[in-house]
Amino acid sequence: MSREELVVQRARKAFQTGKTKPLELVTERKKEIADSLKKDLGKSERCTELFETLGCEGEIRLALQHLSDWAAPRPVEKTLMTLVDQAYVQPQPLGLVLIIGAWNYPWAVTLQPLVGAIAAGNAAIIKPSEVSSHSARAMEELLPLYLDTDLYPVVTGGVSETQELLRQRWDHVFYTGSSSVGRLVMEAAAAHLTPVTLELGGKSPCYIHSDCNIRVAEDHVGKFVNCGQTCISPDYVLCEPSVQSRLLEEVRECIKEFYTENPKGFEDYGRIINQRHFRRIMGLMEGSTVALGGDCDEADCYIGPTVLKDVSADSKVMKEEIFGPVLPIISVSGVDQAIQFISDREKPLVIYVFTEDKKIIQRMIADTSSGALLANDCLVHFTVSTLPFGGVGHSGMGCYKGKHTFDQLSHLRSCLIKSSSLESVNSLRYPPHTQRKINW
Ligand code: NAD
Repeated sequence: MSREELVVQRARKAFQTGKTKPLELVTERKKEIADSLKKDLGKSERCTELFETLGCEGEIRLALQHLSDWAAPRPVEKTLMTLVDQAYVQPQPLGLVLIIGAWNYPWAVTLQPLVGAIAAGNAAIIKPSEVSSHSARAMEELLPLYLDTDLYPVVTGGVSETQELLRQRWDHVFYTGSSSVGRLVMEAAAAHLTPVTLELGGKSPCYIHSDCNIRVAEDHVGKFVNCGQTCISPDYVLCEPSVQSRLLEEVRECIKEFYTENPKGFEDYGRIINQRHFRRIMGLMEGSTVALGGDCDEADCYIGPTVLKDVSADSKVMKEEIFGPVLPIISVSGVDQAIQFISDREKPLVIYVFTEDKKIIQRMIADTSSGALLANDCLVHFTVSTLPFGGVGHSGMGCYKGKHTFDQLSHLRSCLIKSSSLESVNSLRYPPHTQRKINW
């Protein structure tokens, strides 16, 4: 048998093991993925499909469709000196990528970066969060059935295992989680000069201007998706006092419509991940006025959709990211004060603004900073793969989604291939540097 035949035979055998099938992993194992999320977060099958698996499938299909374009040399504009040369950017794999995930969307925050890591030609080690333990276990069992275990192993475990992983040398670390752990990740990576992507959180504000249709605004606020345990959840609302009273009425109706009169018994309303977080969220409400909801059950990790009114800027609930189904409303006198309020704090992952006035939207864009800005809707920018998703400042660094993940996990190598045919042009830069050559 020739060497070529041997290579083809070996590749075919490896292919037949089915270890190159991330898309099949997601499409064939929806049931197992949904079961794990039901146990971890009380997520319904529909919510799992909508908020976890659909996005992963979309990212995989996009990569399959565009991979040859993404990986191809990217010609760049040339200068007079390089007119006859070849100048292009050649994406190149970084090498070994460590992907550390958070617990709130345990599949999406690990599989979506993994798609880009594979597409870019890297090996990747996946470390799911130990907090969503059922998902971590399912990932450990299922990934080896669809992906090569040498190239894409899953490592489970808690803080000490993650710290041990972080002591190793990587070519890139892709971390999703809190800002405080993000700092530790960056510190560990610095020891090897390893670049990092930090997908962090923070307090994302939502400014509702008095001119907007409050009903529409409320429909789109999306605070209670995954019980508020969403990094891009609007953390708090800023609005004029007159808007607050209208908003409260609309939110009351909206909760009933979305989650029935009894959210606790409704399939699409989930649970807090564990009792530690339950107590943390309940503690954050101390000292604030509950205007809607507030019902809870510690044994069941249940907190109903809750709205706090007339919240002061120095209250407990404004001290950290809430990451739960609690929406504080803070009064401001208008857009100027809202911009000031936002600018006085750390740069958030996203700013939401609801208004019919395009000038207000443009002012928000010009006068504030955040990972993203979304006007007249919430959450959906994450589904637009052409928009880079990521934070700035305390909400993170680097970005992903679609081609952005591919680029993030590639080295964009500059290549300049000089032609020797026009040496006369090159001679202009050689000494002696006469005035005639400089003027040319
Ligand atoms: P978490 O506690 O599961 O931690 C995330 C990962 O960090 C886990 O894999 C965990 O093992 C590891 N970890 C925890 N403590 C560590 C330590 N001391 N040293 C090393 N590794 C450690 O999740 P979390 O941090 O509670 O996640 C919630 C946060 O994640 C929120 O702030 C949320 O906004 C953010 N988040 C951001 C995005 C995004 O895309 N920007 C997405 C989801 C969640």
